[in-house]
Amino acid sequence: MRILQVSAEIFPLLKTGGLADIAGALPAALLAQGCDARVLLPGFPAILAGLTDPVRVGSFGTPWGESVEVLFGALPACSKGDLIVYAYVLVAPGLYDRPGNPYEDANKHPYSDNHRRFATLGWGAAHLAHGLDTHWSAELVHCHDWHAALAPACLAVWNAGQGPRVPSIYTIHNLAYQGVFWPQNFGDLGLPGYVFSMQGMEYHGQISFMKAGLSYASHITTVSPTYAREIQTSEQGCGLDGLLRVRASQLSGILNAVDDSVWNPATDSHLAHRYDVRNLTGKVRNKTDMQATMGLTVDADAPLFTVVSRLTEQKGLPLVLSGLDEIISHGGQLLVLGNGDTQLEQAFTLQAKMHPLQVAFRKGYDEDFAHRVFAASDVTLVPSRFEPCGLTQMYGLKYGSLPLVRRVGGLADTVTDTDLETLDDHSATGFVFDDFEVGDYRRAIRRAFALYRRRSDWNRVRQCGMRIAFDWASAAQHYTNLYKSLI
Ligand code: ADP
Repeated sequence: MRILQVSAEIFPLLKTGGLADIAGALPAALLAQGCDARVLLPGFPAILAGLTDPVRVGSFGTPWGESVEVLFGALPACSKGDLIVYAYVLVAPGLYDRPGNPYEDANKHPYSDNHRRFATLGWGAAHLAHGLDTHWSAELVHCHDWHAALAPACLAVWNAGQGPRVPSIYTIHNLAYQGVFWPQNFGDLGLPGYVFSMQGMEYHGQISFMKAGLSYASHITTVSPTYAREIQTSEQGCGLDGLLRVRASQLSGILNAVDDSVWNPATDSHLAHRYDVRNLTGKVRNKTDMQATMGLTVDADAPLFTVVSRLTEQKGLPLVLSGLDEIISHGGQLLVLGNGDTQLEQAFTLQAKMHPLQVAFRKGYDEDFAHRVFAASDVTLVPSRFEPCGLTQMYGLKYGSLPLVRRVGGLADTVTDTDLETLDDHSATGFVFDDFEVGDYRRAIRRAFALYRRRSDWNRVRQCGMRIAFDWASAAQHYTNLYKSLI
């Protein structure tokens, strides 16, 4: 099966969040399943720099008259051994040759021409399904998030909507980010007028890339089974739950996995001390090194709670701030790595100043440091308001850090709360609370301390978590089964 994966980010070349981790791991996992998978990416500087032996396969014009060159080459950074990942990259310097974040400028403002930048990605996918590369044509287009969401609409209107249509899958990695633009931009998209309608991509008078993906994709997936159900409710549907209910029979959840070649404490080159489930002495050293680095009291026995996250309201960080005294008064420590919302950055900076021996904050985005945080951590906090899948709780599990999460989305699908029953049947892997309010969160923190005092139980739970595979082979198998059913 010839499958084109379309995304705006890909790990390790360009990453702002979990989307890149998935876009980076899935192609090689599909190749391992015997799928002829290739990727399509915008020509951001970091992506062009990672493309080797590029050849020009063709070009196409944008609706507003710009010419886009399409390069084809290998992405060694995303390949795994013999599984070479090949990519098409759209070269349009006027659209993509901007440093830093792919979506916004240095002042954190979205670029005003984002609709053009990502409409081009959608049209690029449609061209690659219709012969732009004379040697390879996609049989199915798999798009990720709103940046790629115009592709299903472009495929649907190709040949004026006549004749067989190349099927598409649209994967929602986060329904909250929708790619909504003013209606006067519709003319730039190169789509026929009827697409700007209730049945198409019109959303309260505006144009919505997310809605284009949801309306026109042959099938919709999201990144966990629970989130697939939740987004069909008004609470979590971000205004699109009605449409998602209409499409319920073509909507499914496929749980994300963890790339073991990147996230494995036994082989992780970011760590000074590697370890595995049979020997955790390296983990203790990583922890005391980290405490020293961050100016925390160096004490292997003080439970270290950590956060590695975009600092946004979604991630439940106000709960972490409100419940901080629960950690401090019990003799624990908190380490936060993250950036984003200025108020949250300021709040964590202040707490670190007030409690320098127990609270540390590293502002910024730092891949290397993130690995070291998971290796040092005892408890990974992910108390999200909503969470499509969440990767950090899975990284926590693999690194022997018990996740403390809210029972929502993919967090509910990946963490089993610790109680007498789950301790007894060896299914306990962390701490799960229900209500998005500080009382429930605090109780979960207290349960974490209670278990930490019972070291043999703690070790048992930790071992159960470290043994969970979250392997890409089974996730890729689910995707290939879906591709087969649609082609
Ligand atoms: P989301 O995609 O909503 O941000 P996920 O949990 O799915 O959340 O994925 C987040 C990814 O980004 C993980 O790989 C996590 O380690 C990484 N990450 C988040 N914040 C930072 C940061 N400040 N520095 C380094 N990595 C980070």
